[in-house]
Amino acid sequence: MDILVVGGGGREHAICASLARSQRAGKIYCAPGNAGIAQVAECVDIGVFDFDKLTAFALEKGIGLAVIGPDDPLAGGIVDAFEAKSIPVFGPRANAAEIEGSKAFMKDLLKKYSIPTAAYETFDDYETALAYLRRQGAPIVVKTDGLAAGKGVTVAQTLEEAEKALHDAMVGGAFGTAGSTVVIEEFMTGEEMSILAFVDGETVRAMPAAQDHKPVYDGDKGPNTGGMGTYSPLPHIDPAIIERAIEEIVKPTARAMVSEGRPFTGVLFAGLMIEPDGTPRTVEFNARFGDPETQVVLPRLESDLLEIFLAAVNGTLADVEIRWSDEAAVCVVLASEGYPASYPKGRVITGIAEAEAGGDAFVFHAGTARNDAGELVTAGGRVLGVVGRGAGIAEAREAAYKASELIAFEGAHKRSDIAAKALTPRQ
Ligand code: ATP
Repeated sequence: MDILVVGGGGREHAICASLARSQRAGKIYCAPGNAGIAQVAECVDIGVFDFDKLTAFALEKGIGLAVIGPDDPLAGGIVDAFEAKSIPVFGPRANAAEIEGSKAFMKDLLKKYSIPTAAYETFDDYETALAYLRRQGAPIVVKTDGLAAGKGVTVAQTLEEAEKALHDAMVGGAFGTAGSTVVIEEFMTGEEMSILAFVDGETVRAMPAAQDHKPVYDGDKGPNTGGMGTYSPLPHIDPAIIERAIEEIVKPTARAMVSEGRPFTGVLFAGLMIEPDGTPRTVEFNARFGDPETQVVLPRLESDLLEIFLAAVNGTLADVEIRWSDEAAVCVVLASEGYPASYPKGRVITGIAEAEAGGDAFVFHAGTARNDAGELVTAGGRVLGVVGRGAGIAEAREAAYKASELIAFEGAHKRSDIAAKALTPRQ
């Protein structure tokens, strides 16, 4: 069966690489893809929002399954567009993707179905929001309702910071219409983790938990990014807490979406906070694979990813085999100089073959391209994800860092403390 993957980042590279191992996979196309994806799939120069061209291409090539990577086209109805042309597609429809596309929708859903999350209020009037903010005081969290590429959230330690965030979003228009409605939320403390699950409406099949590192610098300093590194599994977290999060948060949310007449098909991604007493609470839901969580979760999948996708689309997820390796994976992101603010492009990348030569590490491309001379160059903020594998986190981490040392481009930046927390055994 021929497949079309939509997207062009590290997540899509991991998806394409996993699909390429499938027994039933024929040709894999990726739109638009990137220089690394080109090694495992045929890249097609169509943008992720060009639904007409994407569906026309899929029909022309007789695509058996389309797989959608990024959030924006999901929120914009790409799955509905493929379904309208009767092309099988893995991902949620727009009305289900709203669980990520609107924080107000997500919070109202959790409240209605008593699913644990931070207390909150939603506002579309600035003065009312400001008055509420002042009554609540800091620390407090201000979030734009709509998608803002991970930049619409301010975790404010002071009231001044919170007021500025509110003003920027609602008066200054810093996030366009995404910021005209704002959610103000109780500040939660604890440890974060991500649980991704394959979902076909009712059935939820959770993947192994992963942890991301959002801030750009070591010790969680500096501005938030799309993610600077991940690891899986989480040996320092009690498996009973992970199980509890699946039972009390992920499964009830999938059921709630069915009850609302918006059954979710695809990957439901729960961002969770484990409070100091071990209680998991919801921070956010995403409607797709995480980036860079996917880069450490999918390499641990021993079963056939295409079969799982097809089972989700056909509503038979309960019956499909999903086995995971006990090995650990650690992903260290190499980012461009200046990221997450503006950054240069076109810097020549060397050392990937050397990094992969040892056999215990491989590289997923996020923002890469070929220049006119055919050289591999940087083309995004996050450039590469170097994934190390090993019997445990320590071995995987060492493999990832050793490999990442062999890769060079001018101004490359990485965190040096990815997965460090997981080296301390559970008490
Ligand atoms: P992304 O999709 O890139 O993860 P987002 O824009 O959907 O980001 P959230 O995940 O809601 O934003 O928040 C981003 C980060 O802010 C979280 O990972 C968490 O670290 C912090 N955060 C969000 N809400 C809270 C809260 N109520 N209490 C404490 N920290 C929070």
